[in-house]
Amino acid sequence: ADGAHVPVLVIGTGYGGSVAALRLAQAGVDVHMVEMGMAWDTPGPDGKIFCSTLAPDHRSYWLRTRTKQPLNYFLGFPIDRNISRYTGILDAEEFGGITVYQGRGVGGGSLVNGGMAVTPKREEFGTVLPSVNADEMYDTYYPRANAGLGVGAIDPAWFESAACYQYSRVGRKHAGRSGFPFGFVPNVYDWDYMERESAGTATKSALAGEILYGNNHGKKSLQRTYLAQAKATGRVTVSPLHQVTSVAPAGGGYTVVIDQLDTGGDTTTTKTVTADRVFFAAGSVGTSKLLVKLKATGVLPGLNDEVGKGWGDNGNVMCGRANHLWDPTGGLQSTIPCAGIDNWTAGGVFAEVAPLPVGIETFASFYLSITKNPNRAQFSWNAATGKVDLNWQAAWKQPSVTMAKTIFDKINAKEGTIYRTDLFGVYKIWGDHLTYHPLGGAVLNRATDNYGRLGGYPGLYVIDGSLIPGNTSVNPFVTITALAERNIEKIIATDL
Ligand code: FAD
Repeated sequence: ADGAHVPVLVIGTGYGGSVAALRLAQAGVDVHMVEMGMAWDTPGPDGKIFCSTLAPDHRSYWLRTRTKQPLNYFLGFPIDRNISRYTGILDAEEFGGITVYQGRGVGGGSLVNGGMAVTPKREEFGTVLPSVNADEMYDTYYPRANAGLGVGAIDPAWFESAACYQYSRVGRKHAGRSGFPFGFVPNVYDWDYMERESAGTATKSALAGEILYGNNHGKKSLQRTYLAQAKATGRVTVSPLHQVTSVAPAGGGYTVVIDQLDTGGDTTTTKTVTADRVFFAAGSVGTSKLLVKLKATGVLPGLNDEVGKGWGDNGNVMCGRANHLWDPTGGLQSTIPCAGIDNWTAGGVFAEVAPLPVGIETFASFYLSITKNPNRAQFSWNAATGKVDLNWQAAWKQPSVTMAKTIFDKINAKEGTIYRTDLFGVYKIWGDHLTYHPLGGAVLNRATDNYGRLGGYPGLYVIDGSLIPGNTSVNPFVTITALAERNIEKIIATDL
């Protein structure tokens, strides 16, 4: 409520925020979480909380009047459609050179993501987080994160027979014939539930095209793991549809200004609360935007010059290949990817075999590649527009395309196949205008100390993907969670 005082305020309810809330509450601290998106706990008019990827409605996008689907063409035709403006679940946030997709709601990115829960190879960790002790991460914090998230593996025997993973088996066959290493990818989806979906004994979710705009069943989002545990302590409260706009020093603590939003995105009330400690967990983009604005406008002038720097796209690039008619990938495809090509060591690419769950046979193989793209962008305050800009350039995706081609040019040559040119436009091969994996902007041990403390402002912390310098070599949320586990343990032990 307006004027309230809380010991700890957490901005955002994604991975970093959920870890902080749970561990602080377990240590006996009362925590209030503020989330700009909706609660996503109430069914809509169709009886479902989330809408299907195949039929996006008002629930799909954050404050848009037209969808902005990552795969925006099919057979050369644009497939975006008009929707009513609503505080929907997926934000396609547009900067000059890139569209950054992010989850909006209680659970953050866990609501919309593919659930792929990948721990980086240990030999890569030094490039991912150079100032962090790898032994501690691999002995303690990665295992803790994997347990807390409920990470599991597909049953290999079931995989071989499941119709819904025909597309992955085709991907494996093609990778193998070109000599590329191929392996399973862990996930937070409940694999037993998926087997029941497949057998027809459970309501379908992954097998009904649900993913980008939420899964009604099967996926263990943060609402079902860390946040459920946090709420069960009785010490954690959450305010959905509340957006933090300012954090300013006040006495020994901080004054936090929060806009309450309606589902049309308009502010209905502005509230001010005070907090002894504030955790920035608004995601790489959300945290970076807040910190850059607060530094530039003189609210937190002592933040250091690394704030806003070191942002990367985790090298995301997508493409499709057109298979021969004797190589169908299946009309029924699980939305949950379970396998990929690991050519990171040799070529800087980890390519997940992704579904095209359109409900009909497409004879297409589709891939989301994570590449070792070295480009890094910077957020800066634009006083003229009153907004934060990001200086990523569209051309900076070229290294990612070049790396991805080392895999797919070879597979195409071997198989006698070609790229699909109809998925991202008319005669456009590469989905190189977007990222699902924003990382950096408040990099650990540069913008913050080695545990996420913001220097000069005791009680202010960063605890989300903005700490990670632009690339994790794999999908990022396990690393974001494990780093948050490491940092909050230190903060509880030494700062409280
Ligand atoms: P987030 O999870 O983004 O949480 C930040 C929260 O803060 C959000 O809920 C946001 O609404 C809220 N917020 C922002 N600003 C404010 C504010 N001013 N006031 C109040 N609240 C605010 N990663 C994987 O590892 N595996 C995958 O398979 C995978 N697939 C993905 C698929 C898609 C379509 C997308 C979009 C992402 C995917 N990701 C995946 C990425 C992963 O979801 C993110 O890396 C992760 O969610 C980031 O965690 P975070 O804690 O940094 O922030």
